Amino acid sequence: MALIVQKYGGSSVADAEKITKVARRIARTKNQGNQVVVVVSAMGDTTDELIELAYRISETPDNRELDVLLSTGEVVSSTLLAMALHHMGYPAISLSGAQAGIRTDSVYNRARILKVESRRVVKELERGNIVIVAGFQGITDEMDVTTLGRGGSDTTAVALAASLGAEVCQIYTDVEGVYDADPRLVPEARPLAEMGYEEMLELASYGANVLHPRAVELGELFNVPILVASSFTEKPGTLIHGGVSMEVREKVRGIAHNLDVAKITVIGVPDCPGIAASIFEPLARAGISVDTIVQNASIEKVTDLTFTVTTSQLSRAMEVVKPIAGSIGARDCVSDATLGTVSIIGTGMQNTPGYAARMFNALSEKGVNIQLITTSEVRITCIITEAKVKDAVRALHHAFEIEIEG
Ligand code: ASP
Ligand code: MG
Repeated sequence: MALIVQKYGGSSVADAEKITKVARRIARTKNQGNQVVVVVSAMGDTTDELIELAYRISETPDNRELDVLLSTGEVVSSTLLAMALHHMGYPAISLSGAQAGIRTDSVYNRARILKVESRRVVKELERGNIVIVAGFQGITDEMDVTTLGRGGSDTTAVALAASLGAEVCQIYTDVEGVYDADPRLVPEARPLAEMGYEEMLELASYGANVLHPRAVELGELFNVPILVASSFTEKPGTLIHGGVSMEVREKVRGIAHNLDVAKITVIGVPDCPGIAASIFEPLARAGISVDTIVQNASIEKVTDLTFTVTTSQLSRAMEVVKPIAGSIGARDCVSDATLGTVSIIGTGMQNTPGYAARMFNALSEKGVNIQLITTSEVRITCIITEAKVKDAVRALHHAFEIEIEG
């Protein structure tokens, strides 16, 4: 008898009929002789609607209250799913995040899971129950409800799978798996059969919204195989795991993109110790997360410093940086909100010459100007103008297609 954790996203449980369909899938897994723990998201757009409601009451809703409010979305879907299973004659019990032992720190709206005390879940499994856990939420030592950040139910599911030693964590969603590029931009894009954690982490962080990056991190840390598949079809989906074969690994596996990119450049910065810290410390304190940072080699003790933030954080970031730029004697501070990124992702690129050149050639053939380039072990990213992102993704998918096909 295997223990399987399944997670169903908001679109899979958007109405009563869909909840009943999901219950049938769960029942099938149970009938195959498995123990089943299910994590659910809130129905459809519930979380967005609750946030909107809160902001209609106040422009600055209290974070603690907001988390309790948002956690109710998942409570609704988990209870309804348990009722659907009861109606079909299956023993099932819903548990809130707190009841399921999801212990977090007390950073409201984006709490991190500290540990999972899974005694209650184990007890209910032993009683023969299908256990339905409300995703996206946890509880602090003070017994205050927290949420894990948008998309956090994936993280709940992988954390539970890790703590219970589940055979696999199945993430059911409205797409057929992880695609080699966004199918809305590239009609020929295809779901990948399997991929490694590292590659998936880069894809998840650089634009593929299919899986919460923290869920991938946890999966890698605890070696939990994660299956991403559609709850609406019987297609096999994408298995993310650590044992991907060498042949498959040494290739460009996917093209990621992100339209939510803005750039700030501090021009004519004096090149001396402490300058970078004086800019990035206040940004961190203001809760602004900075992605790419590039500093030029200095000429005559003066340099330029460029970094990127999300478009929504640009104005706050400029408010923080402008006065600092003045006080450190920088010449100017300028921004551009109309940027995007395209990335090629795959292990083995670092040891194989020519990938970067092929990427830059494909972009230049489409007249795409590259503004910044960053790399990691498994990724090359170009920051370009937003208007060219779609063309760039298509060009790259085409240029590396033979590899992806492998
Ligand atoms: N319901 C939450 C959200 O919409 C969590 C999730 O769906 O994973 O972000
Ligand atoms: Mg999601």
